[in-house]
Amino acid sequence: MNNDYVLVLKDLIKDFDDKRAVDNFSLRQKKGEILGLLGPNGAGKTTTIRMILNIIAPDSGYIEILGRRFSEKMKNRFGYLPEERGLYRKLKVSEVLSFFGELKGMRKHEIKKRGFKLLQKFALDNYLDKKVEELSKGMAQKLQFIITILHSPELLILDEPFAGLDPLNIELVKNIILEKKREGVTIIFSTHLMEYAEKIVDTVVMINKGRKVLDGSLSDIKSTYGTKFIKIKYEGDAGFVSLLDYVRSIEDYGREMEIELEDMAAKDRLLKALVGKLSLSSFQVTEPSLNNIFIRKANEGEQL
Ligand code: ATP
Repeated sequence: MNNDYVLVLKDLIKDFDDKRAVDNFSLRQKKGEILGLLGPNGAGKTTTIRMILNIIAPDSGYIEILGRRFSEKMKNRFGYLPEERGLYRKLKVSEVLSFFGELKGMRKHEIKKRGFKLLQKFALDNYLDKKVEELSKGMAQKLQFIITILHSPELLILDEPFAGLDPLNIELVKNIILEKKREGVTIIFSTHLMEYAEKIVDTVVMINKGRKVLDGSLSDIKSTYGTKFIKIKYEGDAGFVSLLDYVRSIEDYGREMEIELEDMAAKDRLLKALVGKLSLSSFQVTEPSLNNIFIRKANEGEQL
């Protein structure tokens, strides 16, 4: 038992038939921090989350949650947003709140008060008497998020919390995750959306083909990757950049590009090579983005 950590996973292994979905996976998560569980499709994120929550059993390994082995009694202390969203379509929004609130041991007046506040926050307060089937997909998703946090859990486990949301609602969910952190809640979430993960995580665990390929604080991870990166904003045909012999790799987004140099000493040569060929509105020495690190790590995995 270790009280500094809300979650301890040791050497988890899970096979589905002849496929190893999770391969010797370990992690420790400190109280009050946000951990981003990142990885490409099929990496093993959902399988790991389901093992944490005792929905499926690992073939081997050890799991400690909230300082002890999982038990039904602790269910009210965490909130889980599953990857497959599913609410009873015929129920009204108010009935959904009551159902899940009562399941988590909340009193009726508490459900009403907190539920309404949260509906307001998510701009769903006018839908209290509507049925789930009358909500749009994004609205239903917001409702699912609301019932995950309704009972004020101390640990939130969110499987792809941003999936299917528009940018405004992604921002809203992101801000609520940060607000929960300020309240002392510990949060684990999985995502592919690196730009959002980057803004909110304290620590990152990257998983590829069931194995952990990266683990640490965001700042440590970024500094390991050095500052050999230049970010440019440009107009024009930038196809030549990847061919320059002092350029190690590029991530091209059309009008923005992250360029990894072999050596930072080459930055002036790079600038000279770009000027005249491209119309540049920005040239900036930068840390690699999490997206760039993700792509590189996933590609390294491909080469294994
Ligand atoms: P995504 O980002 O696409 O949701 P993920 O990282 O959550 O992916 P998992 O859903 O954990 O990945 O899947 C990991 C691997 O385990 C995949 O190869 C998947 O096909 C396999 N898998 C997951 N669940 C099952 C199952 N119930 N039966 C058989 N194979 C499964």
